Amino acid sequence: MSQSKHPSALRPETDVLTRGFDPSLSVGSARPAVFRSSTYVFSSPEAAERAFDLMGGRAQRAPGENVDLVYSRFNHPNAQILEEQILPLEPEAAAAAVFNSGMAAIMTALLAVLKPGDCLLYTVPIYGGTQTLIQAFLQPFGIEGRPVPAGDTGAIDQAIRSTPNLRVVLIETPANPTIVMTDIKRACDAALALHSSSGNGSSAPERPVVMIDNTFLGPAFQHPLALGADVSLYSATKYLGGYSDIIGGVALTRDAALMNKIRAKRSLFGNILQPDECWILDTRLPTVTLRMNRQSKNSQRIAEHLAKHPKIRKIYYPTLFDDPEQIRIYAQQCDYPGGIISIDLEGGKEAAFNFLRSIRLARNAVSLGGVETLACHPRSTTHSAWSARDLDEAGISEGLVRISFGIEDWRDLLADFENALSTI
Ligand SMILES: *Cc1c(COP(=O)(O)O)cnc(C)c1O
Repeated sequence: MSQSKHPSALRPETDVLTRGFDPSLSVGSARPAVFRSSTYVFSSPEAAERAFDLMGGRAQRAPGENVDLVYSRFNHPNAQILEEQILPLEPEAAAAAVFNSGMAAIMTALLAVLKPGDCLLYTVPIYGGTQTLIQAFLQPFGIEGRPVPAGDTGAIDQAIRSTPNLRVVLIETPANPTIVMTDIKRACDAALALHSSSGNGSSAPERPVVMIDNTFLGPAFQHPLALGADVSLYSATKYLGGYSDIIGGVALTRDAALMNKIRAKRSLFGNILQPDECWILDTRLPTVTLRMNRQSKNSQRIAEHLAKHPKIRKIYYPTLFDDPEQIRIYAQQCDYPGGIISIDLEGGKEAAFNFLRSIRLARNAVSLGGVETLACHPRSTTHSAWSARDLDEAGISEGLVRISFGIEDWRDLLADFENALSTI
């Protein structure tokens, strides 16, 4: 809403607080009102006709043209405000769309591009819901999903070059729970090289569309669009929401035409984020970088303190990587290591369960990215649908515990963990 008077070239921390909201449209309130209306009154029948022509793709919006709102499954003021305010947090983003979950954002972005007969390349391990979406839902509809190992730069390059009918490359990096990183720029370069000469005027690029699930390190520490990706996807339930109290999702693109396709599917599916949730998420945006910085600092201090602990076999954390390729990707792609650590305990499942029983400050729960520290046992919870062989191959051992650090004082958390470790 009303970005016409907004100075361009502000830095993100300023921009996120000052754009996208015009108090005069909310009777002067300093914070946006929540517009809980399902439908909008047209200013004239002609304006209604124009809004439907634009929505139906029969006309193009003129620069600066104000279009009447229609119906809240398509669009509503709180979504517009949120989508405007989130843009500066994602470098090179031109458009955003908000959804009622991260899964809704991922599904809608995929279905905006894919059709039966197409192939989708995706990194594994990947979020369990995403994996089920691909294998149990898209596959039976005739969309072939091909897994490639996360972090294997050569294999991903090769797969992008050789997969027939490749339409989407979906990368989750770092991958959960072992923090394996995949080179975003290399994948984008490989996709771009496929059809670099195509220019047939269609809005979607002929080359495969590269989508990144940026939930773990974005928007603060990893910027997929600036590395060449077409779509950056979020579970806003995690760091963007930040307080473990809402479910939401976001898709951002560099290209407005691609976003129009995603929005058209969102209007059809009816999975736009509701006004109240938009308002809540909107309040969290100005602090996401502050929170993530603190969470990353807490994690780094604790990871490095626990690195040589006798009860720990291995710690998975970017500043403690030992594989040279992982070290290279982290150095080139990420600004800071982030707030997730996985620790592989001596003593397997019993040790892991005893650890989870003994922690007092951190809570035993799935999910991540909140201001409070959460810990879980992936093998028996988030990854329990996997076969023992796949779990072993991915390093998701019986003793593995994943921790999402909050903003508590790190010394209290460290003492809590050292005490819990002493009980196993
Ligand atoms: C949580 C999560 C999702 C799914 O998001 P929801 O908001 O739960 O639908 C997708 N990808 C990653 C990496 C996640 O952590």
